[in-house]
Amino acid sequence: MDAANPNTDTPINLGKRVMVVGGGNTAMDSCRTAKRLGAEVTLVYRRSEAEMPARLEEVKHAKEEGINFLTLHNPLEYLTDEQGAVRAAVLQVMELGEPDTSGRRSPQPLEGVTKTLEVDQVIVAVGVSPNPLVPNSIKGLELGRKNTIVVNENMQSNRPEIYAGGDIVRGGATVILAMGDGRKAAAGMHHQLSGEQVLG
Ligand SMILES: Cc1cc2nc3c(=O)[nH]c(=O)nc-3n(C[C@H](O)[C@H](O)[C@H](O)COP(=O)(O)OP(=O)(O)OC[C@H]3O[C@@H](n4cnc5c(N)ncnc54)[C@H](O)[C@@H]3O)c2cc1C
Repeated sequence: MDAANPNTDTPINLGKRVMVVGGGNTAMDSCRTAKRLGAEVTLVYRRSEAEMPARLEEVKHAKEEGINFLTLHNPLEYLTDEQGAVRAAVLQVMELGEPDTSGRRSPQPLEGVTKTLEVDQVIVAVGVSPNPLVPNSIKGLELGRKNTIVVNENMQSNRPEIYAGGDIVRGGATVILAMGDGRKAAAGMHHQLSGEQVLG
């Protein structure tokens, strides 16, 4: 939709002071992209750096690019201006408690201790789940946990005319897996429509 063009109807809303919430690879990617688009970026993560799920090199590169790391902080509230745009985030200061079921020390709020960070954009990168619009608007479609679409080995859903692949099936994965699913689905559709088997 030509979003990189500032004169389009739907330009990218570029933040100047961006806060990214999360500690995974997606959070690191979001930070570094926002930084390269000219923002001052702060990463907010509720545990300490040692518990971050992002790959070590992602963290290293994010630091090298000048991302501010604010660990042991968790957003509590977003404050808005008169237009409803975010102007600040109130963060809960955390401390590490006992290890949880994943073996990582769980973050506990330090009651009553908060910090307010002035921001004009927040990117929340704490996990992905499918947009429920498509799964929920198709009658009789079998859904998995978190509204993913259930498919067979040919990426065909229980509604034989509907195929699905990628994140809507996997819940959040990688480009290469989504592309592979697309190929499989295309071969399945071709077979269904023509009776011909597509190899490879
Ligand atoms: C910040 C970030 C960084 C990532 N980095 C990597 C990485 O380095 N390497 C990697 O392999 N993966 C990465 N991923 C994951 C990767 O982006 C996804 O796994 C992949 O894009 C999934 O492809 P997809 O086609 O299933 O879904 P998507 O790429 O999400 O495509 C779905 C499309 O459907 C459109 N859509 C939704 N609803 C409707 C509707 N009702 N009608 C019409 N269109 C609709 C959406 O607008 C979108 O264009 C990253 C993800 C994020 C968020």
